[in-house]
Amino acid sequence: MVQLQEKLQVLREQDLSIWDFFQQKAMDGVWFWYKDQPHSKWVSPRFLELLGYCDTNVWSPVFHQNIFSTTFLSTWKQFIKVCGDNRGISQKQRFKFIHKEGHAVWMDCIGICFPDKPTLPILLTFNDITDLKAKEKLLLDTNRDAKIGAWEINLDTKELFWSNITRNIHEVPSDFQPSLTEGINFYKEGYSRDTINRCVQEGLEKGTPWNVELKIITYTNREIWVRAIGKVEFRNGKALRIYGSFQDIDTEKQTEEKLRQLSILKAQSEDMEQFAYIVSHDLREPLASMIGYIRLLQESFAEKLPADAQELLAATVETATRMDSLIHHLLDYSKEGQTKNKQLVNTSQLIEKVLFDLSAIISENQAVFEINKLPNLYAYSTELKSVFQNIISNAIKFRKPDICPQIKIDCKAIEQGWEFRIKDNGIGIPTSEKQKIFNIFQRVHREKYNGTGIGLASCKKIVEHHNGKIWVESELGSGSCFYFTILD
Ligand code: ADP
Repeated sequence: MVQLQEKLQVLREQDLSIWDFFQQKAMDGVWFWYKDQPHSKWVSPRFLELLGYCDTNVWSPVFHQNIFSTTFLSTWKQFIKVCGDNRGISQKQRFKFIHKEGHAVWMDCIGICFPDKPTLPILLTFNDITDLKAKEKLLLDTNRDAKIGAWEINLDTKELFWSNITRNIHEVPSDFQPSLTEGINFYKEGYSRDTINRCVQEGLEKGTPWNVELKIITYTNREIWVRAIGKVEFRNGKALRIYGSFQDIDTEKQTEEKLRQLSILKAQSEDMEQFAYIVSHDLREPLASMIGYIRLLQESFAEKLPADAQELLAATVETATRMDSLIHHLLDYSKEGQTKNKQLVNTSQLIEKVLFDLSAIISENQAVFEINKLPNLYAYSTELKSVFQNIISNAIKFRKPDICPQIKIDCKAIEQGWEFRIKDNGIGIPTSEKQKIFNIFQRVHREKYNGTGIGLASCKKIVEHHNGKIWVESELGSGSCFYFTILD
């Protein structure tokens, strides 16, 4: 080995291309000078090339000012001084140079001063680590975005290291140095702390890695979810260090929890709808028979019954018919929102059909309509028609006694769909009731007007099936304006 090394020495002295290979290919930069002549330096062409200079004569004593940022210029001066004074190989120092075109070029530098030579030659070698730095930054940025930090426990010194992101997750002040016990104590007492202790124990005893979702209480007393991943590193059977990553997963966990609650609510509401469907379906049959029997009684025994008994029978039929209508609407309501296929709907034509169906009450109330340009959109056609039908028939029903209903319908495009507006000049709704009327069986003007209180609840269900919202702007006595959105 030594012989070969000597041969290489000889070869290097005889053949300059060996040196060229070193300074041009194997190293990214070489600087050479004598300590007492600091202004006359040799700088390898490769170094200058990496900083964007093709002319090797560009070098001058003031050249430093072009290639260093102010912060690094003082580090550089310090480094050169230490190199010259120490007479040996320096520590590795990282420098940020400025390329001729302005971007950063990162290099690691090691220097040496030869103490046995009287002229004290100084040699620096450089290694370009710009790509490495860029990857390091990418990793840091992605870790910061994903809130993933690192941690490490040195089992010899029992020191605990936290990366900046891990420190941020724990919300500790900048001068906080966690001890091993403090690190563990951030885990919430009980399940989380017990689990992490067990994971570390099993890691040390059996080498089992861990990946667990636990809760910590941060320095500022916030309880958050984290994912702790860890592993023990062994050498010759001896545990050397424990290390891993640490991720803030609180937002994801909260979303997960909301989704879980939502799915429970959805299941409950589906159960309720199923229940309402069965009840209303099964109730209608005996009710229809009841109405039939009373009618039969009215027809067959009308003359034999006294007038007040006939009145009672008539009232019974009316009430039973109202009950049938209520059950009928409830049945419709429970079936709402089950349509699966949307189709292209021409809303102008849809409104025309609604107005045709409502023509009797329209002419009876002399209702006037102003309908602006309406769009074609993808929707559940029959259900959308029933939304318009409900809102328009209410606009006529809840009219002021002395003025004919005037109803204005228009629509505007919104970010993800359409917003419809149906404005009337009717009796209006008290501000305190504006929210309630979209709940099933909620009616404001009970005394004077017939109704079931299901219509708007049904509209809400249909609109939500279209991912939209429904609301009203109104004041008692000043008309109402219903809005709903249909999203793509
Ligand atoms: P119903 O019309 O069968 O009573 P809805 O669910 O359609 O039930 O409406 C609920 C309540 O909202 C109505 O009872 C009424 O008090 C109020 N309401 C709905 N539309 C209007 C309107 N255009 N003007 C005034 N009040 C309205």
